[in-house]
Amino acid sequence: MESGVLIEVSGGRIASLQADSAPGDAVVLDGLVIPGLANAHSHAFHRALRGATQLGGGTFWTWRETMYRVAAALTPDEYLELARAVYAEMALAGITCVGEFHYLHHAPGGVTYDDPNAMGEALIEAAAQAGIRITLLDTCYLSSGFGAPPDETQLRFSDGSGEAWAERVSGLKERDHARVGAAVHSVRAVPADQLGVIGAWAAQRNAPIHAHVSEQPAENEGCLAAYGVTPTRLLADRGLLGPRTTAVHATHLTSEDIALLGGSATTVCMCPTTERDLADGIGPAREVQDAGSPLSLGSDSQAVIDLFEEARAMELNERLRTRRRGHWTADALLRAATVDGHASLGWPEAGTLEVGALADLVTISLDSVRTAGSLGSVRTAGSFDSGRTAGPLHGAETAVFAATSADVSDVVAGGRVIVRRGVHQLVPDVAGALRQALARVAS
Ligand SMILES: [Zn+2]
Repeated sequence: MESGVLIEVSGGRIASLQADSAPGDAVVLDGLVIPGLANAHSHAFHRALRGATQLGGGTFWTWRETMYRVAAALTPDEYLELARAVYAEMALAGITCVGEFHYLHHAPGGVTYDDPNAMGEALIEAAAQAGIRITLLDTCYLSSGFGAPPDETQLRFSDGSGEAWAERVSGLKERDHARVGAAVHSVRAVPADQLGVIGAWAAQRNAPIHAHVSEQPAENEGCLAAYGVTPTRLLADRGLLGPRTTAVHATHLTSEDIALLGGSATTVCMCPTTERDLADGIGPAREVQDAGSPLSLGSDSQAVIDLFEEARAMELNERLRTRRRGHWTADALLRAATVDGHASLGWPEAGTLEVGALADLVTISLDSVRTAGSLGSVRTAGSFDSGRTAGPLHGAETAVFAATSADVSDVVAGGRVIVRRGVHQLVPDVAGALRQALARVAS
């Protein structure tokens, strides 16, 4: 880490990095500067459940009933307003790119909107208004479980067949801030004979493909009963694993599953704050990475939106399980939150501070009550110029193990300042925007 680094930006990308430069008229980023964070797994509308689902007990399945009540009512206009506020909350947390795992496609009863992609377009527009990039992981969801027809709420999710899903998704256009990927909701929701269609669509476009995998033991049991194999084995047999693929959660795996994911270089996206909130269990993150899988991180159900918390939770879960410390370095955890997360969303040019990379810069204040005294680590600033204080080098450790999203002071996405001194430049009152959007959804 270095201090006083001048970062010049051209065309949204880092044009040069010069140490020991005078800041001149550059915007000074005073704190620890890291690359933009990638939130690799998000369901924006789940933000409406925060708090409300913390009453009483239950399981993943009882939580899902509450989630479905929100899903049943949302309109494209409401979703734009809600997602704009949620993505602004993400921006304040240092997230410059979101992977939106999007399955709420149709009007109640499964009626197609005039624009069949009205809901997806609302999400793409919301990201633009919040100043962040999005990979819309358009999700195929056809069945309430292993071929059974969708229930009332799930009619909003279903296109009827893999082919109809592909036809609709092909109507989505990519933009500077938006790319389109594919998702299989789960092997519960997409019958085995439809998986190949989704894989082929993504392969043709070299697009990312994501899938919820083995979040619940019940999914494994259902898959074994229906097909005689685990979900991971089924995805492997249908040609869906590989470097463009991300398995989300991957909580309950066999040793063969771990070998299949690692051996195919499939990314595994851990969502520890959601997995613990829903009492899912602890996934074998260290083992899949040792087997060859890159790791990424996601806020998923938006129980909280804080990728530092996701990163440290992955390490701390492993400590509790093994009663040993130090399974990942802070740098390795930040790698999951940055470069590997961006790669899993189809943005390989993001997530690093090097010439040619997208100019996504996140500044973590080193003088908050949580971070003060971590000794400077580095203060970086850029055409953007990183600050002046050289110092001890525990910046990454402080960020991962003590900082929270509240310590993010400045955020630059693609060379554009979207957060300055804790204030979103496009959505000045994010709390107010959330309050208003959530009240509308609740009414
Ligand atoms: Zn999810």
